[in-house]
Amino acid sequence: MTVKNRDSIMSIKPYVPGKPIDEVKRELGIDDVIKLASNENPLGPSEAAKGAMLEAACNMHIYPDGSSFYLKEAIAKKYNIQTENVIIGNGSDELIKLIAETYVNPEDEVVIGSPSFSEYIFATHLMGGKIVSVPLTADNRFDLAGMIAAITEKTKVIIICNPNNPTGTMVNKQEVNAFIAQVPEHILVVFDSAYAEYAEDDGQYESGSTYVIKYPNVIELRTFSKIYALAGLRVGYGIAAAETIAMISRTREPFNVNAMAQAAAIAALQDITHVEQSRKVNHEGKKYLYDQFQQMGLKYIPTHANFIMVDVEKDSKEVFQALMAKGVIVRTGDIFGMPTYLRVTIGLPEENERFIKALKEILKK
Ligand SMILES: *Cc1c(COP(=O)(O)O)cnc(C)c1O
Repeated sequence: MTVKNRDSIMSIKPYVPGKPIDEVKRELGIDDVIKLASNENPLGPSEAAKGAMLEAACNMHIYPDGSSFYLKEAIAKKYNIQTENVIIGNGSDELIKLIAETYVNPEDEVVIGSPSFSEYIFATHLMGGKIVSVPLTADNRFDLAGMIAAITEKTKVIIICNPNNPTGTMVNKQEVNAFIAQVPEHILVVFDSAYAEYAEDDGQYESGSTYVIKYPNVIELRTFSKIYALAGLRVGYGIAAAETIAMISRTREPFNVNAMAQAAAIAALQDITHVEQSRKVNHEGKKYLYDQFQQMGLKYIPTHANFIMVDVEKDSKEVFQALMAKGVIVRTGDIFGMPTYLRVTIGLPEENERFIKALKEILKK
């Protein structure tokens, strides 16, 4: 006899991560491998964050502050809100799961864009909820009107990834304003703003943080994994009305965020120069890649994030394999329903050049 599992977990598909550098080195027996697959910051953590980690390392026999008090304080200060409006997670991935655990009953509906970030589907299915996917518009942006139209009496949560992963597209201030005004108050709106710091918007980008105090049914998620370059430490945060934060906090493990992550995140938040530098490297890498794609006659989706979807006009799995054989790891679009696209993270200039050189050889352009 086997132990019977919960039915709802059978709809969970395993997460497909970007291939780790060491795995590719092992499998191919090559030494010189670069990873442009998981939207990590190629500059690495700021010196201040590294210093904070080293200092914290000596105290790892002590449990972390379960309330992440100083990190919450630093975040509250940044947004001019109270610590009661902040929750810290073991990555924003954890917060997505906690939100589902707090609000999603079996059969409840969670409205998401498609394609978007796969964690939303995981967390919903884990709780036995139903995913309602609203396809992106023809220009690969969130269809906010379509999402409003998808609301039923079972709708519990709507998740807006802005800028969106994997397309890099964004919805603007006017569109978000109009959307928020139409969502009933009993539905939670989650803004996943993992790439907010990269949005090049001419004032058109509106972060979810604008809405969180005014609307108790809105939460914004941010992460230290992307522009703050701390993906390995696992730390992210949510900001929302105090009652919403208190409710979600019920589902949180007492020591969900480790002490090194708390210390590094505080330091990273304060290192504005590193953030500026990261944005600049991204901007320049983006321009270079756009230019190269244009010269190669490849279509791409203009991005507001640190990655670009490029159409290689053939099965991207083949191109992915060929790139990997040359030591360049990217992501294929098939997992996002865009089988001829590759998603490439914008790297350092030499990494971008190496990717382009390899791509040219493979596509003979
Ligand atoms: C990378 C990413 C996150 C961040 O996840 P962490 O768990 O904080 O590392 C969240 N949302 C989206 C859309 C992402 O791409």
